[in-house]
Amino acid sequence: MRYALSTAGLARIRAFVTRNTLLAFDIDGTLAPIVERPWDARVPNGVQQGLATLAGRANVAVITGRAVEDARPMLGFMPRYLVGNHGAEGVPGLEKVSAQCARVCRAWLDELASGNELWRDIDGIVLEDKTYSLSFHFRHCRNHRAVQRLLIGRTAALLPVPTLLDGKSVLNLLPPGAPDKGEALTALLAQSGCDRALYVGDDESDEMVFRMRAPAVLSVRVEPHEASAANLYLKGQTDVARLVSELVRIIGPDDSPSPLPTRKGAAA
Ligand SMILES: [Mg+2]
Repeated sequence: MRYALSTAGLARIRAFVTRNTLLAFDIDGTLAPIVERPWDARVPNGVQQGLATLAGRANVAVITGRAVEDARPMLGFMPRYLVGNHGAEGVPGLEKVSAQCARVCRAWLDELASGNELWRDIDGIVLEDKTYSLSFHFRHCRNHRAVQRLLIGRTAALLPVPTLLDGKSVLNLLPPGAPDKGEALTALLAQSGCDRALYVGDDESDEMVFRMRAPAVLSVRVEPHEASAANLYLKGQTDVARLVSELVRIIGPDDSPSPLPTRKGAAA
């Protein structure tokens, strides 16, 4: 993996990115620094402004684990695509799959909220209903490992058995067959008419994109990780602001002679 902001890394990005590139970003840990309480997370103003500029000149997508209604107010601009729930919400063309995910989550919630559920007696566990997926938050529990074991054991008894996605002090429950970020990006690429995508993310759910190793995708991991399948890395979240500025420069001003193409393969 090469540092994205090195001379060679930037040369690779410049050679890859055109106005017909879908510019896709995760939120937490990527556009926004990770904070103690997820509801306090903010996208820094400079990043918001850079992205708003990009969104006016190119195709921008935001693909997050948050619910869309939770993510939207964080952005301060409207991307062409806003996908939530790790890919299970807001992908054009996948509405039926999303609706099925919502039905499964409703049934899980009914079960988890009823009867003598052990997890409800443990201080600090919060179950978040994101409609298309559920998240157990346990950052404020005393024994993370024991809590995580208990939750994994409990969720394994749900029907259908959820796909589990580990986060930072959070256990995400996804309905089986829910689109992941890789599938979401693939669908957006086909839908958008863009011929390639630059994708920036920071954790396990983003590796679904990195592991595709698709020639049409250039991937950037925030914080290097030896097991990551990403093409390039950033040293930390604060590097994202500089990457966004570089992208603004690469895409060029509004009156640039290269117009925004509308059809697949319409421009180089
Ligand atoms: Mg993230």
